[in-house]
Amino acid sequence: MKELYALLKKFFGYTTFRPYQEEIIQTILSKRDALVLMPTGGGKSICFQLPAIYLPGTTLVVSPLIALMKDQVEGLVANGIPAAALNSNMREEDRQQVKQLCVQGKIKLLYVSPEGLMGELNWLFPRMTISLIAIDEAHCVSHWGHDFRPEYTQLAVLKEQFPTVPIVALTATADKITRQDIIDQLKLSDPQVFVSSFDRPNLSLTVRRGLTKKDKNAAILHFIRARKEQCGIVYCTKRDDTTAVADTLKLYGIDAVAYHAGMSPQQRDKAQSDFINDRTQVICATIAFGMGIDKSNVRWVIHYNTPGSIENYYQEIGRAGRDGLASDTLLFYSLADLIIRRRFAEESGQSEVNLEKLNHMQRYCEADICRRRILLSYFSEQREDDCGNCDVCRNPPERFDGTVLIQKALSAIARTNESIGMQMLIDILRASGRAELISRGYHLLKTYGAGRDLSYRMWREYIYQMLQLGYIEIDYASSNVLRITPSGRKVLYGETTARLAVYKEPEQTETTTKRGKKGDFKARPIRPKEASTIEETLFDSLRQLRKQLAEKENTRAYLIFSDAALQDMVDKKPLTLDEFAEIKGVGQIKQERYGKVFIALIRFVLKKE
Ligand code: ADP
Ligand code: ZN
Repeated sequence: MKELYALLKKFFGYTTFRPYQEEIIQTILSKRDALVLMPTGGGKSICFQLPAIYLPGTTLVVSPLIALMKDQVEGLVANGIPAAALNSNMREEDRQQVKQLCVQGKIKLLYVSPEGLMGELNWLFPRMTISLIAIDEAHCVSHWGHDFRPEYTQLAVLKEQFPTVPIVALTATADKITRQDIIDQLKLSDPQVFVSSFDRPNLSLTVRRGLTKKDKNAAILHFIRARKEQCGIVYCTKRDDTTAVADTLKLYGIDAVAYHAGMSPQQRDKAQSDFINDRTQVICATIAFGMGIDKSNVRWVIHYNTPGSIENYYQEIGRAGRDGLASDTLLFYSLADLIIRRRFAEESGQSEVNLEKLNHMQRYCEADICRRRILLSYFSEQREDDCGNCDVCRNPPERFDGTVLIQKALSAIARTNESIGMQMLIDILRASGRAELISRGYHLLKTYGAGRDLSYRMWREYIYQMLQLGYIEIDYASSNVLRITPSGRKVLYGETTARLAVYKEPEQTETTTKRGKKGDFKARPIRPKEASTIEETLFDSLRQLRKQLAEKENTRAYLIFSDAALQDMVDKKPLTLDEFAEIKGVGQIKQERYGKVFIALIRFVLKKE
């Protein structure tokens, strides 16, 4: 075991294992099959990379995404580990060269796509010493998962062809059916199953509901401005929205690019590489973006629209904070999204399953208890305490007697014979006087103007709460009008009272009126910025050095050092090479290659020269 710790430090720069990593590695080394379920960012890679270094021969890594392979191989090579990929995107000479190295036993980790694998079964693999097989994104083998890939079903041949080689299958998808399916499909023999906690305490969780497009844009701007130079992803359902949001942000001086499947491959590659290489702060993307993106310093994720399931949501926010540092997530929840999602689900061919998934998502968005508890219980993990890092924990709801308020709204719905949606309901309550309302005669109702004292936003919030409390429901089959439920009727007729949570104006008040100069969004600091503390100045300087090195070496900044490593430098302020070696993420190669320049910069910033 001591030897493994030494390798962990030497090649990865870490001194401790994360939960389960050690047990998983032990299992693999005892030649037993393993199934590993760990959330994105949990640290799956080391579970097979470390045994690969330790064992003689080569570890085969099956991975579905060529982009992911490239990233992992580059990361390994940067740490001094001989690794290579074989895939259909490569030139024939390069393929031949890699194969030769494999036959000579010079490659410790060989990444292959499932198709590539099938092609090499007869020639290449019999000529190599294969000591371990790792199957990444193993849920792709299952029809039940959300990402089925037919090529993955052929992987069963691995066990037949290499019956004595241990197989480790890894995935971030948790549910039980998929789990069993992976074991069956891959023919794993009596595998040890590891389910690590899905908790990602470093991700803050916030849901904001019922915002108009304009309010959403203002909230996003405010959010990003409060996070200067921290990069993040805005997920949108519609392609047009990715471009619209990116354009809005650019208008206000924020570096943003759009990304969606309708763009040309070149445009997409450029957007992706700009984001990965820290050339752009924000990427506004459909969910086409993100699979296989291994950028460890994504500091925040915003959902412009409500996702269709908790699995998807969790996977998408999981792209933030992979380095373990505090990161923020913000989700916009709206009835309009819910209605669209319901339609998607109904038309999906698996409508029962997908509607159930959507219901869970809705419950999460509407929750007034700790959101993390809801998330974890969805993944069958119970937790006893509130997390303290979600909007509900930070700002627990205060309640008041909302009976009269609810009666006003319900009475307006009743007097229109349950034929209106939320917008019209608020307009009646607030006496908006708009043409459609007048033409339908709603200005003559007794409840017209009965809720003038509350703002539009307040009404919207209270109506969401009424839905959540089950006093009204949306009739999806009939133009999405609002209907009063039996328990709503009890409140309406005064048979029972009801409490609501007090509406609080969100802290942000920033509006879209303060425009940055159009030209200045390209400007980038080239010197350490004056920041309020020496730590901030140091962090910023280290980041810039990392970026310059990445540009010089034509690699990605986070492959040089993660944000967590930079943060550790700020905390420990190493001034010698030995001290530098103590930094998290600094292995031998990186100490030799980068130690001196980073120390010089730290000395310079601390004025210790
Ligand atoms: P996953 O594949 O599970 O999404 P990764 O293997 O990419 O996650 O790991 C996520 C991040 O955690 C990486 O930046 C990795 O270097 C870091 N990491 C993994 N294991 C450890 C460890 N034992 N100590 C510190 N950081 C770790
Ligand atoms: Zn909480």
